[in-house]
Amino acid sequence: MKKTHFSNRSTLAAIVVLFLLAITQAISAQTKADIESAINEAYTKYENVTEGKNADYIPALAEVDSKIFGIALITVDGTVYTKGDLTSKVSIQSISKVFTLASVINDLGPDIVASKIGVDATGMKFNNAEFVERNKGKQGNPFVNAGAIATTSMIKGADYNEKWNTIMTLMEGFAGEKLEVNQPVYESEAATNQHNQALAFLMASFESMSWDNLQTTDLYTKQCAINVNAKDLGMMAATLANGGTNPVTDKTIVSPETVAHVLSVMSTAGLYDDSGIWLYRTGVPAKSGVGGGIIAVVPGKFGIAVIAPPLDDAGNSVKAQLSIDYIIEKLGANPYLVQPR
Ligand code: GLU
Repeated sequence: MKKTHFSNRSTLAAIVVLFLLAITQAISAQTKADIESAINEAYTKYENVTEGKNADYIPALAEVDSKIFGIALITVDGTVYTKGDLTSKVSIQSISKVFTLASVINDLGPDIVASKIGVDATGMKFNNAEFVERNKGKQGNPFVNAGAIATTSMIKGADYNEKWNTIMTLMEGFAGEKLEVNQPVYESEAATNQHNQALAFLMASFESMSWDNLQTTDLYTKQCAINVNAKDLGMMAATLANGGTNPVTDKTIVSPETVAHVLSVMSTAGLYDDSGIWLYRTGVPAKSGVGGGIIAVVPGKFGIAVIAPPLDDAGNSVKAQLSIDYIIEKLGANPYLVQPR
């Protein structure tokens, strides 16, 4: 009698477990299908958009194939969803600023960045010098060029090579892949970056630089020339979404606290002068680069990246903005969007 009672209970427990498993599987299968269709739809919807123009103030960027269009969404459990061009690489440009900022905060803590550079939107163009002069090198942020160069000047390492190694190791940790510098882009920008050199000297005049001005500007120029495809960028975004641990290699690259600070700067200053309107529309921290990439992060859920070189007037990829906006909305992934209990 007792035995029968016991086996009835275990049968019941087994049924409950099976039932729960079936529900979980149904939910995750539905989510997978949802993600796949959101990406596919975005791709088809925007594939033929011809608005925008490649950046050309760095001569080599004007020559990049403006038809490249790749999407990668990677969840915090390491599932990779892709559509379109996954092989073409573009230079990471300003998106690299996210990772040098992460490196500096992780090594030195958040306060030094806030006090020496600032974490406020400037309302100015990304390479503007006026606000530096006006605010004496402070109250900018690590994503406009002046602040980004100053951030790179704080990278750990005794000399150029050690600092470069710190940057590369970190970027590769985020991407979970070996990365390389796009030599023509690096040389093209190094030959034309006098404005950025001037920003470094201006920042130094206000004691906001922590290392040699010209070597730092060169290091910064090189970090911007690192080549990435949509999947590399998607994984970098997914590592941020996963609190600083790469969801595929399982390696911890930076701490969750570091990521929280980095995401806040992405929210206020990630898309140049259009950072406010972007956050208003999507609710997600993002960062764009003049190479044509944009990454966006839904904390605790997924990272997404789109590469499509033609940019709008604010310097943000037209197709990348449209696609990410569409996918976030389709998946109901705006973190500010909460249904009442
Ligand atoms: N290397 C570029 C520059 O300094 C980065 C700009 C960007 O992507 O916003 O002009």
